[in-house]
This record gives sequence, structure tokens and C-alpha cells, in this order.
Amino acid sequence: MTKTETQFQMSGNIKNKTINVMLAGNPNCGKTTLFNQLTGSSQYVGNWPGVTVEKKSGRVRGKTGIDIKVVDLPGIYSLSPYTPEEIITRNCVLNDSPDVIINIIDASNIERNLYLTTQLAELAKPIVIALNMYDILEKNGDKIDVDLLEKQLDIPIVPISASKNIGIDKLIKKVIELNNKSNYINVKNIYSYEIDRTLNKIENELDINTCCRRWTAVKLFEGDSVTWERCNFTKEQKNRILAHLNQIQTLKNFDREMLIADERYKYICSITKNTVFRKHPADYITISDKIDNVIANRFFAIPFFLFLMLAVFTVTFGTPGTLLRNGAEYFINDILGSTIQKFLIAVGASYTAQSLVIDGMVAGVGSVISFLPQILLLFTLLSLLEDSGYMSRAAFIMDKPLRFIGLSGRAFVPMLMGFGCTVPAVLAARTLENQKDKRLTILITPFMSCSAKMPVYLLFISYFFADKGPLIIFAVYLLGIAVGVLTALFFKSTILKGENAPFVMELPPYRLPSPKSMSLHVWNRLKDFLVRAGTVLLGASVIIWFLQSFNFSIKMVSADESMLASIGKIISPVFSVCGFGDWRAAVSLLTGIAAKESIVSTLSVLYTDAGFASAFTPLSAFSFIVFVLLYTPCIAAVSAIYKEMGSTKWTLVSVFYQLFAAWLASALVFQIGTLIINLGMI
Ligand code: GDP
Ligand code: MG
Repeated sequence: MTKTETQFQMSGNIKNKTINVMLAGNPNCGKTTLFNQLTGSSQYVGNWPGVTVEKKSGRVRGKTGIDIKVVDLPGIYSLSPYTPEEIITRNCVLNDSPDVIINIIDASNIERNLYLTTQLAELAKPIVIALNMYDILEKNGDKIDVDLLEKQLDIPIVPISASKNIGIDKLIKKVIELNNKSNYINVKNIYSYEIDRTLNKIENELDINTCCRRWTAVKLFEGDSVTWERCNFTKEQKNRILAHLNQIQTLKNFDREMLIADERYKYICSITKNTVFRKHPADYITISDKIDNVIANRFFAIPFFLFLMLAVFTVTFGTPGTLLRNGAEYFINDILGSTIQKFLIAVGASYTAQSLVIDGMVAGVGSVISFLPQILLLFTLLSLLEDSGYMSRAAFIMDKPLRFIGLSGRAFVPMLMGFGCTVPAVLAARTLENQKDKRLTILITPFMSCSAKMPVYLLFISYFFADKGPLIIFAVYLLGIAVGVLTALFFKSTILKGENAPFVMELPPYRLPSPKSMSLHVWNRLKDFLVRAGTVLLGASVIIWFLQSFNFSIKMVSADESMLASIGKIISPVFSVCGFGDWRAAVSLLTGIAAKESIVSTLSVLYTDAGFASAFTPLSAFSFIVFVLLYTPCIAAVSAIYKEMGSTKWTLVSVFYQLFAAWLASALVFQIGTLIINLGMI
């Protein structure tokens, strides 16, 4: 954009124009929470870094009279192009040329957060600081002299609390006010005399149209290769700049990037000294530290993690969860089902129509919906762990074991998200810098048992493992992790060899989960679930009902002579060795590729109660569960994998590897199990 255009934008008629706003800040400082508050959307908020990996945009709701577009960016500590998040954010700031930047700062961690501010300020774009988590600051008994800080920084500051919706209106007002300011002046200089002089000299060498002159000069000073390329200097220009740099280098014998960082920190120190007042000294041991000393210590951490997961499963799949499910089942079958049937009889629906609705739709979708209360309970408990900050400890604890299998600790976030849904989990793998690490992470993420598989486990548990539910689920989760680990070891030592990138992860403080963010989590998942139930599952149930009720000449026949049986019988022999060679089981696995819950709907349509109970033994039920756990994820996940792998070959590797791993593991379970039973060991 040329200079005149910029000026026009800034002084132009605001009524007709959209204000483009960007949210920039450190990881976990509340950007997405603020974004959701501003736009009324419900993006994923997690109390751990690395959740937002794509820029997301939305419009400010409410009657401001002005169209304000907001972009949520991944969290960054600096504008250096080292991590993918930094690159996304940096490109966005430089190329999309926002009208106003909202720099979100975690007030309880202000010194570190200001480091990014010193860089953003150099972009010479209107900035407002949203001093977030002000509620925490006040609760801690700390104080910030906002007015003085504002004066010293020369950047407007609005204290807010994003999660409590405090100060947001004021922030919007400030954004509009800044956008109307015609002559936005570069911020104060933060460097010492010699460095400032060198930066000025470099600035003078820059082309007249170069945007963000001070920032560009600093980047050139630091030796940032991307900026050097972007500037496209002539040989003379380049030599002159290098001469300036040599001069300062002889004066200050120091790495230039370090020099800049050091000056920034000194500046931050000088302005926070008289504005930030902490109740406790810096080395004060916080409550978070105390909790961590116990539950995140070296010896206790992993057992505690396992214990916690087992506890979650016990509540969800033990008595409390089962009671919930019985209630839901009663409602669907005995109340809803029979009411619909009575209605259909009353209106004189044909036998085929009755069968379609009762055996197809109600059996198919209802069977899945009846697991909903239990799944909601699980989500609530997991989001409790997540929002409180415990899950990031888990990531931290897992860093070492992950390193051992050749993965960077960064891989943990995608893996953790994989327990919810594989699709966002695969997208989250984008934060891995190195292509090999990224591919490996994507390869193992689908083995983390996603929540859509849960109804399948629950169905089998209710028939075959009545009192061992929590243990079976726990074992299945662990098995998924174990196969992931073996996969990583295998690929890392063969085709995906390479160094791991270093991993730095900051632990967020423990926070009391806010009911709003928790209900948002749960609602998001519930919504996904219901949408799938109404679309894919309903559709699949109807198709399955049709295929199993008719033969190829479209005559209504018994299931055994139906089209579906003919199709199923072609693939089912492959599964004999796994213990479930019945065509109905094979067909259900096929429909599971559309959505994993479909397996339950299909089984419910195809089997009667008694038929189901006699079609499997506890052993073959378990080997079936193992197959479902490990095999190719649903279509949506495969397309996410394709998108992130950026390669057809690797997508196919992933799909077929998972199919094979599932088949092998399930065959092993069944064969070894049979052997043990035959030997009379159980
Ligand atoms: P992001 O990584 O910057 O996008 O941060 P998120 O929006 O995901 O928020 C990180 C965590 O901080 C979540 O657990 C939020 O619920 C919490 N949080 C965000 N804003 C506030 C706030 O103003 N006060 C408090 N107490 N917590 C907040
Ligand atoms: Mg975020």
C-alpha cells in the first residue's frame, strides 16, 4: 500500500469503511476469549498455549454503527519468523495492513508481555493495549498505575477482563477513536543513543515507500534474512547499510539480535519500575507453584495423571454415567419410539414406512443419542481439567517421554486435542516447525481415541462388560497411546528420521474454570454431535435400512438376502481372523468411515438385541473395539489429514497404515486371547 493510500484510510470517512482490527499477544493471554466476546463467536479457548493456529476473523457485534472486522491470531512472543505462529502473525501484520492493532497483555505477567509490545509499537500502526486478566491482577493484590504506564509507553491502555466481559465497550470505543486519528506518530524511541543513531541511518537508506520503517530498520539491524530479501536493495545501498552495522559492531562487541533484545528488556524494566507494584516479591511461591510441587513433581506426575484419567472414566462410565444413559434409553425407546409408532399406526402408515422410521431412523439415530448424556459428562469433566490449567501440566510432564520416542513436546497439544476430535487436532499439528515432526504427529493423532468412537465402546460395554466399563475404556485409551508410540518409534527410525526441534512451553497458572468457557466447550462438542446425528447418521441409517431391507431387484427381503448382505459378505472374510467375520459387523465398519457413531447406528439397525448379544463373545467384542479405536478416521479427518500433509502419498500412507495397524492389532488380540482361553488360563 502506498503512503497516500494509508493516509486516506486513516483519515477517510469512517461511516462507510470497515475498520480492520488485529488481535496480537502472547500465547494464553486471552486473545480468543476477547475475540469471542467481541464477535459473539465460539472459537476454541484453551488454558494452554498453541490452541489457535489459524487466523480467524469475525465482525464486532452490537450497535457501534461502524463495521469492525477482527482477526484472532496465534499467540506469539515476538515478531521473529522462527515459529509458524510467528510467521502467520507477522505476515498478517505486515501484508494485511490492519487499521488498528489490539495488543492483548496478560496483566499478571506484564513484563514479559511488553516485549512483544515494544516490537508492535515499531510498526507505526495505531495500537491500543488491552490489559487483560485485570481481575486476576486485582485478586492477587497487585497494582498497575495505568495512567503513568500509558504516558510512558505512549500507547493507550484499556484495562479489561475478557472472560468477565469487563471493559470491552471501552476498548471498542478506543479502537474507533484511534482509527479516526489521522496522523499516527511513531512511538517513542526505546534504544540507547548509539543504537538509535545507527537505526536512523538505516532508516534513511530505505526506499521512500517502505512501510513500517523503524521496524524494518530494526530487523535489518538484527540481520533478519526475510526482511533483507524483502527490501531488495541495490548493491550500493546494501554496502552502506553493512558499513553502518560494522561500525556499531566494533563499538558494541555483541550479537546484534541479543543487543536489541537486551535494550528492549532494559526499556521495559525502566517503565515498569514505577508503574507495576506487586504484593509479593518475584520469587514468591504462588499457589500454582505449590500445587505443581505436588502433582507435577518428577515421581508423582505420571501416576497422578493416570489416576485422574481413571477417575474421570469411572465417573463417566461407572454408576453415575450408566444411570444417565438408562434414563436416556428409556426416553428414546419407551417414550419417543412407542409414541411415534402409535402415531404411525394411527395415521395408517404402510409397513414399509413404519419400518423405515422405527427400524431405520429411530433405531439408528436414537441408539447414538442415548449415549449423549454420558458423553456430555465426559466432556464436562475433561474441560474442567483443561480450563483449570491441569492439561498443560500434562503436556509438560509428557515432554520428556515424547522426546524419548522422537517427538517434540509440541506434539502433545495435537495429541491431546485428538481425544476430542481428530479434525482440529490434525490442524493443530501445524505449529510443528519441522515437516517430519509434523507428518509424524499427524500420523499418530488419529490413534488417540476421539469422542465419536465413544458410543461404540459404550454399546459393546453395555452388552459384554457390564461392570468393567471404566477399566475397558481406560485400557482402550492407553492402547491408542501405545500404538501411537510404537508408530512414532517405527517411523522415526525409518522414513522420518531427523532432529527434533526444541520445545519451550510455558505453564499457565491454575485458574478456576469459568462456567461460561466450560459451557462453551461442552456446547461446541454437543453441537457437532447433534449436527452429525441429524445429517450423516440419519442419512446413513436410512441408507443402511434400505440396503438391508431390499435385494438387488428392490424386493423387500430378510436382511440375510439383502443387498447389504451381499456387499458385506465380500469384505467380511478379512475379519474372520479378528473374531468378527459376520457381514453385519463388516458393514458397520464400512459406514464408520462416514462418521464413527454410524457403527452404532448400523449395528442397531442390523441386529436385534438378542442377535447382537449372540454375535459376539467378550473377546471378539474387545477385538472389535480395538479395530474401531485404531482404524482409519472418518472422512472429515482424512480430508484434514490431506490438507495438512499436503501430499496424496502421505495421506494414503496414513489411511492404509491405520487400516493395517487396526487389523493387525485386532487379530493379535483375538488370536492371543483365544490361545489363552484354550489353554485354560482364564
Ligand atoms: P489465547 O491463547 O490468547 O487465545 O487465550 P485464551 O483466550 O484461549 O484464554 C486462555 C485462558 O485464560 C482461558 O482459560 C481463559 O478462560 C482465561 N482467561 C481469558 N481472559 C481472562 C480474564 O480476563 N480473566 C480470567 N480470570 N481468565 C481469563
Ligand atoms: Mg487462542
